[in-house]
Amino acid sequence: MKQRPGFPARLDKDKASSPPKTLLGATRVLTAQSPMRPKPVAMPSPAGVGLDSSTVRVRMVQKLADQGVTDTLVLQAMGLIERHRFVDSALVNQAYEDTSLPIGLGQTISKPNVVARMMALVRQAPGLQADGLMGRVLEIGTGCGYQAALLSHIAREVYSIERLRGLHDKARENLRPLRLPNVHLIFGDGMLGYPQGAPYSAIIAAAGGEDIPCAWLDQLAMGGRIVAPMQTSQGQQALVVIDKTAQGLQQTLLEAVHFVPLKSGIA
Ligand code: SAH
Repeated sequence: MKQRPGFPARLDKDKASSPPKTLLGATRVLTAQSPMRPKPVAMPSPAGVGLDSSTVRVRMVQKLADQGVTDTLVLQAMGLIERHRFVDSALVNQAYEDTSLPIGLGQTISKPNVVARMMALVRQAPGLQADGLMGRVLEIGTGCGYQAALLSHIAREVYSIERLRGLHDKARENLRPLRLPNVHLIFGDGMLGYPQGAPYSAIIAAAGGEDIPCAWLDQLAMGGRIVAPMQTSQGQQALVVIDKTAQGLQQTLLEAVHFVPLKSGIA
């Protein structure tokens, strides 16, 4: 059983980040986030006692909304899933800051803002179901399992694949108490996708390569969307959105991002 974290968490961060960089050459413009300029919010005193994690999560969600995340289902999920349960105990008091954090084996969990942004992007895919949920979603790079838990609230079935055995096991342990029957964790090379769950309404990658693997394109349903970091011709990494439409694949480059590398094989 996990220990309750040593809250209150630090609540001192309210600095504005620079607006996302939009890369030239986009073939289509998606709803981009508004420039990140958080409005001042009334903060509970960090020195106060008895703050529990839901208070800091509410504050994180409000900050995400201030930063331009408007999708209520995504915000709801971010408010529900306890990020502190997915990071090492030494990092628990940073769990609700807008920062990426190490999760072991040289990997990192993305900033909440980037996670929310990517989920909002997949939800803008044309193939959304009538009840507002995605159908089957494939996540490349389970890491600690945080995003898989979030995805379980916006999709009917979540397949999440991880190439590092140590993290696959850690994610399994982190997710067990949440009892999410629609999350399927797979140990394997995500560059090959996971054909058993295909076709997917969306594929979301937490690691960036030089290209989008063909397997992902093959396993994407018609009307489905890939959201992934990818190396651009300028040598930077940027978020890329690929829609599979009756007219073919449509690619859109969005802002610069910093994800861990997509690697082949298992370890
Ligand atoms: N979504 C994760 C973020 C993990 S970081 C979370 O919420 O914690 C990205 C992960 O992608 C790392 O764990 C890394 O090992 C994994 N990864 C990189 N290349 C991969 C591949 N080819 N297949 C599966 N996982 C991969």
